[in-house]
Amino acid sequence: MDLGLSGRTVVVTGGTSGIGLASAGLFLNEGAKVAICGRDEARLAEALADLEARFPGKVMAHRCDVTKREDVEAFAAAVQKWVGGADILINNAGQGRMSTFASTTDEQWRAELDLKFFSQIHPVRAFQPQLEKSTAAAILAVNSLLAYQPEPYMVCTSAARAGVQSLVKSLATEFAPRIRVNSVMLGLIDSGQWERRFQARENKAQTRDEWMVELTKTKHIPFARLGLPDEVARAIVFLASPAASYVTGASLEISGGISRYI
Ligand code: NDP
Repeated sequence: MDLGLSGRTVVVTGGTSGIGLASAGLFLNEGAKVAICGRDEARLAEALADLEARFPGKVMAHRCDVTKREDVEAFAAAVQKWVGGADILINNAGQGRMSTFASTTDEQWRAELDLKFFSQIHPVRAFQPQLEKSTAAAILAVNSLLAYQPEPYMVCTSAARAGVQSLVKSLATEFAPRIRVNSVMLGLIDSGQWERRFQARENKAQTRDEWMVELTKTKHIPFARLGLPDEVARAIVFLASPAASYVTGASLEISGGISRYI
């Protein structure tokens, strides 16, 4: 099947690691040009070098914190200058916060709501004028199953995720039929986030394999393993591509069967 991505330009926020980096690689493989962003200059340079070595002249990287409107506007201006505009926007940048209601301060609530909402809102606002000019316009929000199945140990992330799901639905209606808007709902994916959580584990004697086995048991993952960034990236690439031309307002679960709701 031809996904129709050849010659298109895709923006991937948080494209320097995990799911974002894997998605950037797959979009490039399909013949698209890709612009990535992230906050850390060193990680950005490393990701750019990796992608540029495989797809010379097809990648650009821009330092940008998606919670800062000016950063995102400058990123959009840089993409406009680079190729004349983007066709597809993947709102992937971010991370989850592990805390209960009792252990989450008001400031942490505000920071989490700010990250989850404005990592969508700022890029949508900044890139919308470019997407409006495209015949393949699509936005894809990387979201979590926590939106529908909240966990008490990630209380503010779960609440924010539900809000983002609502935003995706509203945007899909408001932007139809010009721009498609969809989301992926993730379970546990083995990326930079989980590596950082492994490094911060209490029992330092535990190997990564042992830690992962325990994690998959406590989270009751039917597939008995975490997902891989590429397994998410393949779904992102399809949903954001012109091949999914009649799909909007949809969410695709990628979780190894972890959800319990119907
Ligand atoms: P990684 O930590 O591997 O990647 C996160 C990426 O986002 C990095 O490139 C990071 O770069 C960037 N980033 C983080 N915050 C910002 C910011 N404020 N502005 C710009 N870039 C930012 O994690 P994942 O690949 O797992 O995460 C991708 C998305 O998937 C995230 O939104 C995450 O919340 C979501 N998700 C992941 C799950 C999982 O189990 N892995 C489950 C559910 C959702 P830098 O730090 O340099 O800015």
